[in-house]
Formats: sequence, C-alpha cells, structure tokens
Amino acid sequence: MINIVLFGKPGAGKGTQAEFLKGKYNLVHLSTGDIFRFNIKNETELGKLARTYMDKGDLVPDEVTIKMLQSEVEKNQDAAGFLFDGFPRTIAQAEALDVFLATKNDKITATVALEANDEILVARLLERGKTSGRPDDQDEEKIRNRYQEYNEKTAPLMDYYTKQNKFYAVDGIGSIADITERLSKVIDNL
Ligand code: ADP
Repeated sequence: MINIVLFGKPGAGKGTQAEFLKGKYNLVHLSTGDIFRFNIKNETELGKLARTYMDKGDLVPDEVTIKMLQSEVEKNQDAAGFLFDGFPRTIAQAEALDVFLATKNDKITATVALEANDEILVARLLERGKTSGRPDDQDEEKIRNRYQEYNEKTAPLMDYYTKQNKFYAVDGIGSIADITERLSKVIDNL
C-alpha cells in the first residue's frame, strides 16, 4: 500500500493535482471537502451539520470528520492505496489516522505539501468563487478565516510529519503539469 497525504493551504491546488495523481498511482482519492460538499448537496444530516462550519470558513469538528473519513476508508477495502486530500487538518486528526491505519497494519507513506504564498492563494480562491458557487470562496473575510484556521490548527502538522521523516514539500507555483511532475518525483523516490 502507498498512502499519501496531499498537504497545502486552501487554494494550493490539492484537488487539481489529486485528479492526476490518483490515476497515475492507482490511488483512491478521498477529499474531505468534496465529501462534505456532496453531503450538503444531498441534504444529509452530516451535510447540515458540516455546512454550519464550512460556510464560515471554520473547520468541521474533529470527531465528525474523523468518523466520516474512517467510514470512507472502510468502503474501499480493495484499494491499492489512498490519496488523502484535505485530511488530516489537525493534530488530533493525524493521530487518529495513524491509529486507525495501524489497526489495518498500514501507515502513511508520505505527506507532500504544495507551497504557495498567501496573497496568490487568496486571489486564486476569489477567482474560483466566481464560478464554484462555494460560499467559502466568495468572501474575503471567510477566506482569511480559513487561513487563520490553517495557521493555527493545520500548520503544526508539518512538524508532526517531519518528526516521522515523512514530510516533503514542492513548489506549488507553475503550470499544472510542472507541479504534477514535481510531486511525481517525490512519490517515485519513496
Ligand atoms: P480548501 O482546501 O480549498 O479550503 P476543502 O474543499 O478541502 O477546501 O475544504 C473546505 C471546507 O471543508 C473547510 O474549510 C472545512 O470547513 C471543511 N473541511 C474539509 N476537510 C476538513 C477536515 N479535515 N477537518 C475539518 N474540516 C474540514
């Protein structure tokens, strides 16, 4: 099994790159943001709950997110590996993921971060908001709140994975193909 965590700030291009990487490495792509949005669209109980947090740019509580992620992994028993996108986003989530994978005699292979500066990313998100219909992309205040959530709760994961010798970073600025190439180089050398 190869299990990759795709890491980066909101708008860094995780979803875009995941589309290429999942085919290339035969991985099941699990995007917590996409799964929450699917639930919101279908008006499930989970969706109704998640929406109250997401619309403000806050993180959904760990307990809810961890449970959901585990059930998605369970649904894919035959997977050759996973590409985690948008998860983990807190230390508690990372710890829960390590414990959960260990129960399956499995582990995270590597965390690969897409690096880009905040001003470029905020501009990208506002641009995406014009067509995505995502309320959290349309308002600069909500976007700034997502960065604050990232800095407080998600950034410490860099240290968490570095201590496990699993953290790699690539430059997230450039053409989509160039960035896929940079990510592939890291994954091919694992
Ligand atoms: P982006 O990376 O562009 O901010 P995502 O689509 O990954 O967007 O996530 C959108 C929103 O979904 C987040 O702002 C958050 O509210 C919620 N969310 C996604 N993943 C998680 C997670 N692992 N923990 C808590 N909330 C999450």
